[in-house]
Amino acid sequence: GIPQSSRKETPTRFFSTHPSRADHFTESVIREMTRLSIKHHAINLAQGFPDFPCPVELKTAACSAINDDYNQYAITWGEQNLREALATRVKDYNGMTFDPETEITVTCGSTEAMMTSMLALIQPGDEVIVPEPFYENYGPDAQISGAVPQYVQFKDDLSIDEEVWKSAFTKKTRAIILNSPNNPTGKVLSREELSFIADLCIDHDVIAITDEIYEHILYDGRKHVSIGSLDGMRDRTITIGSFSKTYSVTGWRVGYALAGREITERLRKIHDFLTVGAPAPLQHACIAALWLPESYYHDLAQEYDRKRRILFDGLRNAGFTCRLPEGAYYIFADISDFSMTDTELAHHLVEKGGVAAVPGSSFYHEGGETKLRFTFSKKDETLTEACRRLEALDI
Ligand code: PLP
Repeated sequence: GIPQSSRKETPTRFFSTHPSRADHFTESVIREMTRLSIKHHAINLAQGFPDFPCPVELKTAACSAINDDYNQYAITWGEQNLREALATRVKDYNGMTFDPETEITVTCGSTEAMMTSMLALIQPGDEVIVPEPFYENYGPDAQISGAVPQYVQFKDDLSIDEEVWKSAFTKKTRAIILNSPNNPTGKVLSREELSFIADLCIDHDVIAITDEIYEHILYDGRKHVSIGSLDGMRDRTITIGSFSKTYSVTGWRVGYALAGREITERLRKIHDFLTVGAPAPLQHACIAALWLPESYYHDLAQEYDRKRRILFDGLRNAGFTCRLPEGAYYIFADISDFSMTDTELAHHLVEKGGVAAVPGSSFYHEGGETKLRFTFSKKDETLTEACRRLEALDI
């Protein structure tokens, strides 16, 4: 038999001689900051989830679904009634028509929808355009799928340099990842910008994968535009949505992918083997979310507008340079005036100031050290207390 000492060594030897794709990943900085926030009993303005409850209609519906025995696997691509309700909602709000049987797939959050989309479309070596700064997950998603990310920058004022974006499209480009309203910048792509991107996609035979998770969190009268609703884009777009942010149920893990029949066939093959489907009772409860009155969405945007202003004023009083976001629930503050890098300042704030934020570099493949991201998806009193702490801290 193997001597006792070698038995002990075996796992170490395995890890040093058999590298895996996981070795290239670092822990999500957003989730790391949440961990540090718990450790230091800080206020978590790092991770984008509400500290207030979801609508009572959703809680009631979720409890009823469990009590009514919806506790077994749902059909892999999603509970039929939910897909039908989504088809109606998407037609009314996004102006797009999808067949619930063949073109709507319910996923485990938009996180799974993005991963599934990339795995379904990408062969290792294919290029994917990722506008920067970007939501942290897109980098690892590209790595897992074998995609070669091509990063394109927004200008400092968050507008698009058309020549730079044009030159990112090559013969190898298969997809572009869009996220509007944007995390972390709050940028909302205008109809003109989306039309410009749509033309590039059509000219280069590229698919747009668009993460529209913040579609209802818009300020100053802005209206959401889905790129999939523009001429010629319906069948070359995967529109990703989620219940997480709109209904304050980030822990439920229910999202969806809308796409033409051919893309959906591919998506469902990957989705099936990755997850076997999203949580069945919570899919039932999400139908109740889609029955909420129109006033719900109006109130949601108004409440986030108030929170946006509380955090914006507080950050400015604490010495941060920032702009009001156009959508989503983050402020991407500039910290060039402080004598610390993003990571140093984030650690200082969580350890000494009792407030967690995310270092800007986690939203860039390179750079971002002069930024910190704060979320305002918190109760007003949580935000007020966080601002008080930031102002009191000598940075
Ligand atoms: N996409 C963006 C842009 C996000 O900001 C987040 C969460 O913060 C997600 C996706 C994750 O969403 P879900 O809970 O639907 O997986």
